[in-house]
Amino acid sequence: MSIIAALGSGRSIKIEAQVSLEEKRVTFAFRGVLEEEKPLDAVAEYLNGMRQTIEEVVFDLSGVERINSSGVRCWLDFMKRIQGYPFRFRFGGVSEFFLEQANAKPWMLGKRPLPIDSFEAPYFCETCSSRTVRTLRTAELDLKAEPFRAPSASCESCGKPMRLDESEEYFFQFLKRLSSLR
Ligand SMILES: [Zn+2]
Repeated sequence: MSIIAALGSGRSIKIEAQVSLEEKRVTFAFRGVLEEEKPLDAVAEYLNGMRQTIEEVVFDLSGVERINSSGVRCWLDFMKRIQGYPFRFRFGGVSEFFLEQANAKPWMLGKRPLPIDSFEAPYFCETCSSRTVRTLRTAELDLKAEPFRAPSASCESCGKPMRLDESEEYFFQFLKRLSSLR
């Protein structure tokens, strides 16, 4: 059985929980702007009640469009609170906006680093000045590469190679913690 429930909706964030009892897994999909504490409290309480039912928890943060300083603080408190819960945690997807904050505050991705399935990386085409966001799958990357370089990508409009629209050294910092998981 798979149920989808809207849960922990705040003023600007919607959090949907998809529960699969066969796989003993719940996936939380976050959509919108993360800036307050109440919706995260609802998620933590929900998880607390699922201790007997669920083994794995997946956070899909690819829909986080922005996170402000209050959202960062709330997220850090939330991570601290739930990491004592008896689940396996991982990130199904992480948006570029969330990663920007997490590079300054690495514990946003877990005090002990949690696995990340995929994440968004912004690319820029110098030729036609277009910016696109690519989803990179962590399993396909060589995390031990030093320095780590963005996988090559070509522009969908003009076919020319694109570059990462961020400093590679800064943007990919979070991968260094992940490489310890391999
Ligand atoms: Zn182009």
